[in-house]
Amino acid sequence: KSFEALHLKPNILKGVYSMGYNAPSKIQETALPALLADPPQNMIAQSQSGTGKTAAFVIAMLSRVEPSHKYPQVICLSPTLELALQIGQVIEKIGRFCTDIHIRYAVTGENIPRGMKLTEQVIIGTPGKVFDWATKFRCLDLSKIRVCVLDEADIMIDTQGLQDQSIRIHNLLPRRCQMMLFSVTYNKDVMQFAECLITNPNIIRL
Ligand code: AMP
Repeated sequence: KSFEALHLKPNILKGVYSMGYNAPSKIQETALPALLADPPQNMIAQSQSGTGKTAAFVIAMLSRVEPSHKYPQVICLSPTLELALQIGQVIEKIGRFCTDIHIRYAVTGENIPRGMKLTEQVIIGTPGKVFDWATKFRCLDLSKIRVCVLDEADIMIDTQGLQDQSIRIHNLLPRRCQMMLFSVTYNKDVMQFAECLITNPNIIRL
């Protein structure tokens, strides 16, 4: 199997090769056709780190951005600042040839001047900050988000408040927003959480 077979946009394919990836990993090969399908499908994926799951959802996110539109279009929620920064780095690297796509971190330490509206197409953040920016500060418009990724959903469940905040954020998204949930473990708690967020998911377990 090859990345060419996935029909990625040329700039994204270039970014993928610049990472040194020669061929899609198992999860990329399995998930991307469904994630990039028309209409795009929702997904719950159970996978360990080290499987290439980050690149899988980053490719899916970048593929759905319309660079000429200057408003938030895709969002990734992460349970921690550190993970958000790590994911952001992968987005920046795979997206390095997508020069009209910009990314904004919604994490502790980042502040937005009063009255400003975010124009970046890609948002990566922790649920608390994303929710504050969307509601209290109103600088983050979630009404045109097409893709929402929740990474490490099992950690979200284990961390006070993150699960509720994620559900509240989901309630602000368009009804047809594509949802992807990634989790290392797959159990009853994860399934219940997923039920609050995702309808008709493809379920991938590796
Ligand atoms: P993750 O599952 O996101 O924790 O990814 C773990 C590691 O896999 C990272 O170091 C990536 O650089 C690497 N990786 C992701 N996709 C590929 C690929 N298609 N080929 C080789 N390495 C990859």
